[in-house]
Amino acid sequence: MEQDVGKKIEIPEVITVGDFAARLNLGVAHVVGELMKNGVMATVNENIDYDTAEIIAAELGVDIIPEPKLAAARPSDGSSEEETTASGTVADSQVRPPIVAVMGHVDHGKTSLLDAIRESDVAASEAGGITQHIGAYQVTKGSRRITFLDTPGHEAFSAIRAHGARMTDVAIIVVAADDGVKPQTKEAVKHAQEAGVAMVVAINKTDKADADVNRVKQELSEIGLVADDWGGDIPCVEVSAKTKVGIDKLLDVVLLVADIGEQKALYSGMASGVVIESHLETGRGPVITLLIQKGTLHSGDSLVVGGTFGKVRSLEDYRGRRIKEATPAMPVVISGIREVPNFGEWFEVVPTEKVARDWVAKQARKQSIKSLTSTKTVTSQDLTRAVVDGQVRELAVLVKADVQGSLESLLDSLGQMGNDEVRVKVISSGVGDISETDVSSADAGNAIILGFNVSIKAAVNQLAKRSKVDFHLYKVIYELLDDVRDWLSSLLPPEIVETELARLDILGIFKVTKGLVITGGRVTSGQLVSGLTARILRKGEVIGNGKVTNVQKEKQAAREVNESEECGISFETSDSLELGDELVFYKTEEKARRL
Ligand code: GDP
Repeated sequence: MEQDVGKKIEIPEVITVGDFAARLNLGVAHVVGELMKNGVMATVNENIDYDTAEIIAAELGVDIIPEPKLAAARPSDGSSEEETTASGTVADSQVRPPIVAVMGHVDHGKTSLLDAIRESDVAASEAGGITQHIGAYQVTKGSRRITFLDTPGHEAFSAIRAHGARMTDVAIIVVAADDGVKPQTKEAVKHAQEAGVAMVVAINKTDKADADVNRVKQELSEIGLVADDWGGDIPCVEVSAKTKVGIDKLLDVVLLVADIGEQKALYSGMASGVVIESHLETGRGPVITLLIQKGTLHSGDSLVVGGTFGKVRSLEDYRGRRIKEATPAMPVVISGIREVPNFGEWFEVVPTEKVARDWVAKQARKQSIKSLTSTKTVTSQDLTRAVVDGQVRELAVLVKADVQGSLESLLDSLGQMGNDEVRVKVISSGVGDISETDVSSADAGNAIILGFNVSIKAAVNQLAKRSKVDFHLYKVIYELLDDVRDWLSSLLPPEIVETELARLDILGIFKVTKGLVITGGRVTSGQLVSGLTARILRKGEVIGNGKVTNVQKEKQAAREVNESEECGISFETSDSLELGDELVFYKTEEKARRL
């Protein structure tokens, strides 16, 4: 169908690329290509706003006009917050700050980049800088805010999966320009892709003399990430966390990429979200950093947090300033909760503290009934549970450590262990003692729990025993790594070692029946005994195999026949035997392999 010349096409405020292409009567690829040329990375199901649509339409020589408001007020396709709650409807949804995680190979500059971004925030430094260091912060860019998560990205992603909530909108993949794409870079990309999170690559350390941006782009393209200026759709920004060059541009690109996904959240109503950090503070009790997903959190609100509850006693923003309320994508620090929850646990405001207490009690009852009634047929002792059989045998582990630093170095070492046959699969990791949640996750993921410098409470220990979840505690990193190496080694299929024992030249064939040949010959090397297996060699090539079941010397049963002696044998084989063939007898042994 040709478009009517001069007719303007109505486009809503937000439209998916696919729908936009359909309304323009153009192919999706054509529209995506045009968007890309204009620096907008969007796939068929992603949304673009009217302003973008207008620019693209103009490029394509099509006139568009805004669709009347009535239609635009409908929830747009693909909006992530199409819920209606007692206290709010989609109409209350507003664009919230994007949440960004920084990932990449160790030493490529994740921490430095996060620090540089934090310091780039003029508003924050004017206000006297940041007095505390928590697991997330926000920066202001123009009139917008961006939330940065200072937790390992893969943890942020597993929290999404657990609660069906989005905790990361954009992943910045940091690649050092002097080092290029490394194993953890690939891991990070895989995690982001699996979680469907948009990526921006920050090519860091461009101040270094041996920085080679093109090599990085080349290596990125080898793992399927083609830089935007190389005709692909991955925005790459050259930065230096040291000299701060490119930080501003990086923030702009992050906002651009985030806008494609258009993150909206309900601002009204009771707040909910995830725990991103928690610890016990003398005199203050559990101090918890929360990331709000939707609604508004107020000081004095009652809430359930994972398996515990409480009332918000103090509410502070990421800079440690007291605030009265907090809105979506804001990281806040609260106190007033009974116990220390785990990273990634869900929180939800409830009407009263009593509701919170009852709810937690009910959950705890359910949990204990579940663990008492669950039956297991295999025990974990022999590792059977922790092995995922596939092309590569994986040892599933859940890792807990006392501090972030040792956790990262452990994860790094575990990631490097193994080969193309066996490897470690970390199903979850975190800082802090082994909790009931860890035991449940390990149970669900058939994993062994490894704890470094952490402890396990008696109740959790019992839960682990009941659920038959194996846990091991260590005080020395290399002991932990040695154990894992041993376990991985035990998963390696054994090496089959073959030893040649004798050779026999066939000089006569006396009788051939189905499956058995009575034959005679001379032993040319070694010692032949009954029971040995053999390969049949014809003109030097293996043509079959069989087994000797009886050995005779001078028509008498013999125990062994030595080199240069002649003998008659019964040879079980389904292959044919001819004069002049050679039998090579051997034994095989399985030898355990080590990593
Ligand atoms: P992480 O392990 O990814 O968090 O890396 P870090 O932020 O700890 O950085 C690792 C090392 O690289 C540190 O010695 C940093 O000072 C250095 N580094 C980080 N960014 C840059 C950069 O842009 N330029 C240079 N020259 N060094 C950097």
